[in-house]
Amino acid sequence: MEATTPELIGGHVVLDFANTIAWRLDERRTVDRVSGPAELLTWAGASGLLDADRARALLRVAEADPDGAAHTLRAARRLRTALLHLLDAAVDGLPPRREDLAVVRRCLRDAWDRAEFAAALPLRPELDVTAPDDVVRALALEAAELLSGPLANLRRCRGPGCGWFFLDRSRSHTRQWCRTGDCGNRERVRRHYARSRDTRH
Ligand SMILES: [Zn+2]
Repeated sequence: MEATTPELIGGHVVLDFANTIAWRLDERRTVDRVSGPAELLTWAGASGLLDADRARALLRVAEADPDGAAHTLRAARRLRTALLHLLDAAVDGLPPRREDLAVVRRCLRDAWDRAEFAAALPLRPELDVTAPDDVVRALALEAAELLSGPLANLRRCRGPGCGWFFLDRSRSHTRQWCRTGDCGNRERVRRHYARSRDTRH
């Protein structure tokens, strides 16, 4: 398995999870960084969704139960697809689709069946993560937290084909690119060449 450091540019773990599909809007380049159960659990530990020891323990559980792990992966991807649709709708100013809300609701109901209240106010759920499926539950709880708040700072990178989401925490609220060293630079280079072409002709 290729050991990769996840690119955590979203500013929220749910956006980082959505961003595990790179070049989402360019079919020829799309890469799914969560290509198997082990990649999902490794990502969960590296992204801060779970602590690293917990993620390693779940990896061992998943290795001992490939069928269960495959189920976890399918559930995680289903949730991710629904979240991507909801985030796209939010950025585009469109109403969320009912089928996507239904997927999140199912995951959230399942999560709340297992979660307890943390012993402090304000009320917040606390999930004892002991099985690979708990990763999907933890993501659902995080998603509910993100999507029930204001999304005015939610952005989708303007790099062609990129499709990554992030929270714009710049002081001017004008951040447009996932990373200036990546999509932002490519766009500057493109504009530079377009300008020099224009001046030549
Ligand atoms: Zn980008």
